[in-house]
Amino acid sequence: GQPAQRPVGNKALVPGVKHIIAVASGKGGVGKSTTATNLALAFTTLGLKVGLLDADIYGPSQPRLMGLSGRPESRDGKTLEPKQSFGVKVMSMGFLIEEDTPMIWRGPMVMSAITQLLREVSWGELDILVCDLPPGTGDAQLTMSQSVPLSGAVIVSTPQDIALLDAKKGLNMFRKVDVPVLGLIENMSYFSCPNCGHRTDIFAHGGAQREAAKFGVDFLGEIPLDIVIRETSDAGTPIVASDPTSAHSLAYGEIAAKI
Ligand code: ADP
Repeated sequence: GQPAQRPVGNKALVPGVKHIIAVASGKGGVGKSTTATNLALAFTTLGLKVGLLDADIYGPSQPRLMGLSGRPESRDGKTLEPKQSFGVKVMSMGFLIEEDTPMIWRGPMVMSAITQLLREVSWGELDILVCDLPPGTGDAQLTMSQSVPLSGAVIVSTPQDIALLDAKKGLNMFRKVDVPVLGLIENMSYFSCPNCGHRTDIFAHGGAQREAAKFGVDFLGEIPLDIVIRETSDAGTPIVASDPTSAHSLAYGEIAAKI
């Protein structure tokens, strides 16, 4: 028969977690965290058990996005209990430091922090653990790619050339470390004026779909720039949780179903 599955390098599974998916972006500010949050929530609406790991050590945003604060507890003195919000288990460096404390860390500390957030947390049984990576292609991305078997990476970009250029670097990095790229999402894809309905392609439009085709990866969908997405995120009640039947929530749901 088939040979037993061999571990690749020193990648080890996170016990109980079926799939780990990374949400990445080439640069900051393109809406990667917002997308990771809403996708995690969309997975719960598909009936999955979902965790959300905020691997953005230097700029954790998941506590605010998911309306969570305070220190996580430990029941056994060894592992931390994730916090829960809208049915998603969440762990973030943001729970462990004060909001205005900067993380002044070199690479090895970032790497060990991420390993701890993955392995020293009582994730329990999860169908999918969504990891919100920091922007770029640095230590955190490498640690994630090399220490756990990622089911794949999703790359978020705006349609703008410069953001796409950075997204391509991310795409190539995941390919180099043998992590499947599950597809590209175009965020801030266009803007429709709430008063007159006029549409403006503020950061251009369609770039992510073109690049996806060029690179032979899936285009997962587009999310417009909309104040409702920003306001619900800032309030800690992301749109997929607070207004699950809105057009945006359905769009996140369609993207989640493709992943
Ligand atoms: P990143 O994780 O890429 O740095 P964030 O998710 O923190 O980006 O988003 C940056 C800012 O843009 C936040 O204020 C967020 O609320 C806002 N934002 C993200 N996506 C959208 C969107 N589709 N429409 C409106 N605002 C958005």
